[in-house]
Amino acid sequence: MMQMSLPEHTPLLPGHTPLGRRPRLLIVDDQPVNIQALHRVFAADCQVLMATAGERALQLCRERQPDLVLLDVQMPGMDGHELCAQLKADPLLRGIAVIFVTAQDTPDEETRALDAGAADFITKPFNPTVVRARVRTQLTLKAQADLLRELAFIDGLTGVHNRRHFDERFAAETRRALRTRSPLAVLMADVDHFKRYNDQCGHLAGDDCLRRVAATLRACLRRPTDLLARYGGEEFVCLLPDTDLAGAIGVAQGMEDAVRGLGLPHPGVDGIVTISVGVAAEGEVTGLVEAADRALYLAKAAGRGRVSWVEG
Ligand code: GH3
Ligand code: MG
Ligand code: MG
Repeated sequence: MMQMSLPEHTPLLPGHTPLGRRPRLLIVDDQPVNIQALHRVFAADCQVLMATAGERALQLCRERQPDLVLLDVQMPGMDGHELCAQLKADPLLRGIAVIFVTAQDTPDEETRALDAGAADFITKPFNPTVVRARVRTQLTLKAQADLLRELAFIDGLTGVHNRRHFDERFAAETRRALRTRSPLAVLMADVDHFKRYNDQCGHLAGDDCLRRVAATLRACLRRPTDLLARYGGEEFVCLLPDTDLAGAIGVAQGMEDAVRGLGLPHPGVDGIVTISVGVAAEGEVTGLVEAADRALYLAKAAGRGRVSWVEG
């Protein structure tokens, strides 16, 4: 018999855990009554998704990216082991924590579950307090792993994405652009005479300037799919999916204006801090970064503090 009384209410995630939203839980069991029992335990503090078959659970994982799956082992069709194996084989789903919930509590079963990539193993009939405690542990680990993954893609100085993240997104977006025949644009922005800025104002003031410029460039992006990254040194790169050359030039001009609008004094040139921006779009997508770099060189050669472009 499953115990139906609600456990004493302790929060599911400690206050300091960095998930920053309600945890998303997927309960998978071919018996709706079992789903109901678990639902009662978590409905108050989780967003609960439910599936009565492995195939549907896999679909929900792809569409909704739950943090954790409570997974029944024995189900007709795709069983728990197979679903878990599929999740762990997919780079996009691998991070989802899986806890097996099963009536078969032999050491063999447990070992098999852990070998399949499950984070934990709970036997039915379950005790709600124990289930909550185990789920809490896994959610905490998941939140920490998410944070580390995120930090690995952030530039420490400016807080915008780093080169590594840009390289990954660029590879994915070029593939998508080729597949869907949609336009893709790359901007390369570089602070003008920044060496002189450092020489005159000092390296710490230089760092501050880079942070101001990065925040200003980021504020110029309009779509959630647009990406800004620090490419290196005082150079920033921007990836604009579904954007043609005219649109990209517009964004680049907005960035050049915005940095100029900051009015940061630049004693090294007896003026203010400006950027030069190179724009590339509508050509061979895989060569867009090199093309944006060529365009940036043109902007520098033409006098800096301006936008130049090339087609592809
Ligand atoms: P240009 O207008 O041609 O781009 O001239 P520039 O002086 O900006 O170009 P250059 O590439 O010669 O110098 C870039 C300078 O940026 C040199 C380097 O010390 C500085 N720099 C690179 N990374 C950082 C950083 O993280 N912090 C600070 N403060 N300076 C940096
Ligand atoms: Mg520069
Ligand atoms: Mg440079």
